[in-house]
Amino acid sequence: MVKLEKIKEERKKNKWTILIKDSDEIFANTIRRLILEEVPTLAVEDLEIKDNSSALYDEMLGLRLGLTPIKTDLKSYELKENCKCKGEGCARCELKITLKVGKKGYVYAEEAESADPKCTFVYPKMPLAKLLSKQKIDLIMTAVVGQGKNHVKWSPGWAYYRKEPVLTIGKINDPEAVAQKCTDGVLVLDGKKLKVDQDKVYDSNLLDYYSELDKSISVEYTDNIIFIVESWGQLSCKEILATSADILIKKIEQLEKQL
Ligand SMILES: [Zn+2]
Repeated sequence: MVKLEKIKEERKKNKWTILIKDSDEIFANTIRRLILEEVPTLAVEDLEIKDNSSALYDEMLGLRLGLTPIKTDLKSYELKENCKCKGEGCARCELKITLKVGKKGYVYAEEAESADPKCTFVYPKMPLAKLLSKQKIDLIMTAVVGQGKNHVKWSPGWAYYRKEPVLTIGKINDPEAVAQKCTDGVLVLDGKKLKVDQDKVYDSNLLDYYSELDKSISVEYTDNIIFIVESWGQLSCKEILATSADILIKKIEQLEKQL
């Protein structure tokens, strides 16, 4: 049975590192692809522009707004194709957000007003445009639920994995020289001895390089998998992982029905 172990949660970065035991890279890659391509989120898809005299062309502004993450409540929203409205657009698959500004200076995401207070732009201080005096933006956005396979703006985050590395060190000839070459803090000096900072080993991309620095430094890889999820903010890391599992189950059920 697959076992998961949460190794690290970095709240500020919206990032989770988990250890997957008794599984393989096929499973990890399936989850990775489901996260990137299938886990749905809300993103701005249509614009009704009443006024835009800012320096950004309508298309540029549209692109920016599309890529501005919106907090997504998957319990209240549904992909258009699965929605009861059959794709016509309703309150379960669409969300209106208005932006009306005419003040000189930066326009921030917090100035946009969402029809659903639970689903607003995630980062209040994300700049959307910059206005000179007398310039104006007045528009209504329609956000819809979509998937990363159609446009990356709907991707909930980034996911990747690697085999679990185990770094061991023995007696080092010149610990100071090795520590100096270690730029990511994995190997640190403790007095005159070299020490492994286990916390940083999973994040390091330089382990193979370190093993070449001294004969007594070695890296081995276990069959466990380190899986890293970074959320763009629409969903929490937990929601992203749980939704990817739901989608996998649904896909298998659909397959089973057809057999
Ligand atoms: Zn609908």
